[in-house]
Amino acid sequence: MTAFACTLCGKCCLNLEERDAPAWPDSFDTLAPFGLYGLPTRAGLPVWSWERGRMMDAAERRGVPIAFVPSLVAIDREQVIVLVWELATRACPLHVSRIASEFPPPVRPREDGTVVLCGAYEERPAVCRAYPVLIRGTAAAWSAKCPDAFAPDAADRAGFAATYTDSFAAAEVAARIPAVVRDVLRFLETTRDLALVRGLDRDAALDRVRKGPVVDLVDRLSRGGPFSPADLAARVAAVGG
Ligand code: SF4
Ligand code: SF4
Repeated sequence: MTAFACTLCGKCCLNLEERDAPAWPDSFDTLAPFGLYGLPTRAGLPVWSWERGRMMDAAERRGVPIAFVPSLVAIDREQVIVLVWELATRACPLHVSRIASEFPPPVRPREDGTVVLCGAYEERPAVCRAYPVLIRGTAAAWSAKCPDAFAPDAADRAGFAATYTDSFAAAEVAARIPAVVRDVLRFLETTRDLALVRGLDRDAALDRVRKGPVVDLVDRLSRGGPFSPADLAARVAAVGG
């Protein structure tokens, strides 16, 4: 059994528009009745609200600019709550380039002889931890856009776990997060005076986002009582066992 080894080619950090990202399992029309709205973005690096905060902290520490746009929102009366953000740039500003010869094989150097590492490895979001594994619904797949990804010997859970080890484990956790978000929205509805606006069409939802005000999920959760990213992480760990 050959295990996947990232060759630090940088493709998945520098060309986010070309990166396969886990698609929302539901279409706009099936989410809208629940008060969730998926907005058209380039879908290269979707990050959850709490992950955006960590990436912004990492960017600040490194002194690099970073920007996000709303990708999945809930609407509370006039207020737009952003659950998932999308990195606004084609290349992730948290990457770092290093001379390829400093690293043992396998590496796939770029034309300029460099390889690319994550400059915020401990803070990187679930979508990066999982890549190149993609879990959509209950099905696991690998991204053909990663030049070193390949089919596991067996396309079942054991096969993926053996070939993609940490990436597969991260993808399994990431696949639980939508359930956590629905759980969190229910929590907000019952304890924090949330009144979701349901059933808008795409243009109306986009109009609401443009007009704002827009608030981040963690900020909304923190209003009226402490609710930290750690609480959310604990919920992620608890969902689906
Ligand atoms: S595209 Fe694949 S091999 Fe290249 S850096 Fe990303 S995970 Fe590693
Ligand atoms: S957070 Fe790290 S792994 Fe993810 S895209 Fe940015 S540099 Fe790459």
